[in-house]
Amino acid sequence: MYFKRIYISLYLILIRTECYLEIVIMYEQIKEKLTAHGLKVTMQRVAVYEALLTTKEHPSAEMIIDIVSAKYPGISTGTIYKTLETLVEKDLVRKIKNDGDKMRYDAHTDRHHHIYLENSDKIMDYYDDDLNKLLEDYFKNKSIPHVQIQDMKLEIIAKYI
Ligand SMILES: [Zn+2]
Repeated sequence: MYFKRIYISLYLILIRTECYLEIVIMYEQIKEKLTAHGLKVTMQRVAVYEALLTTKEHPSAEMIIDIVSAKYPGISTGTIYKTLETLVEKDLVRKIKNDGDKMRYDAHTDRHHHIYLENSDKIMDYYDDDLNKLLEDYFKNKSIPHVQIQDMKLEIIAKYI
């Protein structure tokens, strides 16, 4: 019984340390990214960027406001909107359009495609190197008049089964 208690305590300490380390690593990554993109590290920017990085939901501005306000009640809605725009301007976050008028945000700026689920407002990430190569090869031999392609992303509409 005594050993079991020690074991549980050690286990809990390990979990807490791991969580703490994850938070520190996340904060360091955020700091590095903000600085690399020419932004000063402020509490507001860290809070908004952290909210975006820790979700794969492609949140709307309202969802981000909810997440940030729950954790940092001192940050105003206006500041969150402004911070979001700054992160978009500096290419740390991308705006993606939803089916409706609502704008959604994506902090995962590595190359990926989006799957829009019908009957749900979920947008899933889709990574596929073969598809990227296929698209690149296709447009190598076929140009679109008056435009120069900068990037290609597929919008996939699907039903969740
Ligand atoms: Zn995405």
